[in-house]
Amino acid sequence: MQTLIKLQDIATHMHLEPAEETPNLPPLTHDKKVAPCGQIVTLPPKPIAQQSSIEKQRAELGISYAVMPNGKRMPLLKTLLTSACERNCNYCPFRAGRNYRRTTFKPEEMAKTFLQIYRAGLAEGLFLSSGIIGGGVRTQDKLLTTAEILRYKYAYKGYLHLKIMPGAEKAQVERAMQLASRLSVNLEAPNEKRLYDLAPMKQFTTELLRPLRWMQEIRQEQSQHLGWNGRWPSSTTQFVVGGTDESDLELLSTAAFLYQNYGLQRTYFSGFSPIPDTPLENRAAVDPWRQNRLYQASFLLRDYGWDLEEMPFLLDGNLPLDVDPKLAWARENLTDEPVEINRASRPELLRVPGIGPKSAATIVQARRQGTLRDVIDLRKLGVKTKRLEPYVLLDGKRPLYQLPLL
Ligand code: SF4
Repeated sequence: MQTLIKLQDIATHMHLEPAEETPNLPPLTHDKKVAPCGQIVTLPPKPIAQQSSIEKQRAELGISYAVMPNGKRMPLLKTLLTSACERNCNYCPFRAGRNYRRTTFKPEEMAKTFLQIYRAGLAEGLFLSSGIIGGGVRTQDKLLTTAEILRYKYAYKGYLHLKIMPGAEKAQVERAMQLASRLSVNLEAPNEKRLYDLAPMKQFTTELLRPLRWMQEIRQEQSQHLGWNGRWPSSTTQFVVGGTDESDLELLSTAAFLYQNYGLQRTYFSGFSPIPDTPLENRAAVDPWRQNRLYQASFLLRDYGWDLEEMPFLLDGNLPLDVDPKLAWARENLTDEPVEINRASRPELLRVPGIGPKSAATIVQARRQGTLRDVIDLRKLGVKTKRLEPYVLLDGKRPLYQLPLL
């Protein structure tokens, strides 16, 4: 069918970012590219020869798997209303003037095509973005019309992630919050200067940061009953890492600001990978470890109560690649001053390698029943002890542990 061929056409040029919370860090592979509006592009996880027929069908249409907070994998159609774009972001395969065939859907056509796929059991949700034609406001209107058709004409109640276009108006953001399960605005870069190097036509503060602020204002000022299914959608953003000379300190400073002030649920870090026939085609792809260290650091900021000042930045403002930031901090700060498991506050426990929010809660609960004297007591609680042993005291004593050989 013609519309499925159009979807395939778009899918050959892009695979959008993992749009959901993932319990694990992204895999350390080089099979990533950057797609429209800066989303990570993850190629199909299996070689084609190993894919089942449904996996092949999904991959051809641009359906990939998002991992939900409960660990469930959801096949998600990630696509564009149009692969044409009037902007010229330096990293993007869809930038204006790049030579390949463009594909455009009308809102009704996209809604019907997605429903066909949804009803066939190929996708359980939709992540819809777009190249920009006729300005951000006009393009956003088309995305909103597609969402309204899905929600009200076809009574679609499932997952819908909508992209907010650069320069969208506040009323459009508000409408999107009434229709979507999740919204995202990709900042691409940590500040105005870096953004200019990556995407010269985008305005950092007025076009990108402001819609994220509006989302938080709307959440705070209006009843969440106005949101889809009685809840406001979460908001996320993404950075293209290594597309300019930005440092990890710059990226994490902006991420910390967004977590604290704009209620952002998640920051995605998309390692830059060069696309032929773009101004950055000769720039080296970023080391995938850099992307992983940024994810680890951003989880510390978001979930572990860390401050930016505690991050073990090197002199150049980047994180070390060879060690996880929490472990680097513990080596520096806890080797000579271990944490007493029976007395430490929750924030102190969360600074110990191997102790996350769940383990910290379990320890706090268990020590009310009696003193924890041995790593075996911790293991009985389900706490993995290998990483924490060098950095804790149990009832005043260091546990016996094997020193690393290197
Ligand atoms: S606005 Fe930039 S990133 Fe988005 S599709 Fe156009 S060129 Fe690509």
